[in-house]
Amino acid sequence: MRTKKLFILTMILVLLSGQAVVAQNTVNNVKLYELNRQKHRTNINVPEIDGYKTLKCDFHMHTMFSDGIVWPTLRVAEAWYEGLDAISITEHLENNPSRPHIGGDDNSSYEIALPASKDYNILLVRGAEITRSMPPGHLNALFISDANKLDVKEPLDAIMEAHRQGAFITFNHPGWKAQQPDTCLLFDIHKELIEKDVIHAVEVFNENEWYPIALGWCIEHNLAVTGYSDIHEVSSHYYPLDKYHRPMTLVFATERSIEGLRDAMFARRTVAWFSKYVAGPDHLLQPLYHNSVTVSKLKNSDSKGRTLVEVRNNSDFTFELQPVNADFPGATLQPNSTELIRLDPVKAPARLQYTIANWFIDTGKNPTVTHQL
Ligand SMILES: [Zn+2]
Ligand SMILES: [Zn+2]
Repeated sequence: MRTKKLFILTMILVLLSGQAVVAQNTVNNVKLYELNRQKHRTNINVPEIDGYKTLKCDFHMHTMFSDGIVWPTLRVAEAWYEGLDAISITEHLENNPSRPHIGGDDNSSYEIALPASKDYNILLVRGAEITRSMPPGHLNALFISDANKLDVKEPLDAIMEAHRQGAFITFNHPGWKAQQPDTCLLFDIHKELIEKDVIHAVEVFNENEWYPIALGWCIEHNLAVTGYSDIHEVSSHYYPLDKYHRPMTLVFATERSIEGLRDAMFARRTVAWFSKYVAGPDHLLQPLYHNSVTVSKLKNSDSKGRTLVEVRNNSDFTFELQPVNADFPGATLQPNSTELIRLDPVKAPARLQYTIANWFIDTGKNPTVTHQL
């Protein structure tokens, strides 16, 4: 009897307290969790090559500390959401319209973004953009130790200070129409600095522009091939990220660290990836392709007696394969998908040889890839 009373009392209390909770939620604070976007990182699926890790990098972007419109920590969060491993915030040293309002100096964006980069496990490279009229135009200095010391009057003094700090220096957007309205030129000063090993790379791609001629300079002068967003606004507002990854440079590094990145870039182990295009030296594009695509001849023929060959793309790359002769058809391999190729048994090629029409190993030159059957 005593137990029954206790039970009833407990039930009344539970009901009362339950009503109280409902009332409180309904009147004072009702959380609508369906409005919270799910936070997840997009994985970028590209293979490793030659025993190196493939690091996805964007080493050209801006924030409010130059002429961008976002705060440095947002750049780190974007990088995480969009699948990158490493970024550099490369503020213009000479063009910073928001500074009178927000204060700070040429190192501020790095210092603000550094704790966030640790929280998101993004590698943050200290960098800056030397922003001058052409020539020498705009150059990014990466792996520097103090951006403030690069903020000097003479462009060459800024470049040589970056060099003294051990910088990896890139000639940015050589065909940008604001500076080069009709031509994309490597000036004598660039050639001189390349010869002295002061300039190490060129952007063959910037923002939404691709400069095929600059890829030829990279191959001729053994420069690292790079391509970056140069993003000033929110990247997901600018790029159609549902269709393409943001533009990036793939760096093939011994380890996922700042040191690993630095070694790989000075060793020129980089390729640029933008839209459906990839640009870089043939010796890097070959393993990148062969580690992405597998070709297998099937035992069964199709209903017309043709040999079936399965071509599987295990990566986020797109491949537009054009046959080098008429014995077999071409194919466009969409990311992470499989194509069936049907071969005429009379012609029966012993191998498939393609050029990849949307990949580039020099100005106007595509790589050729071969599969033995
Ligand atoms: Zn620039
Ligand atoms: Zn820039």
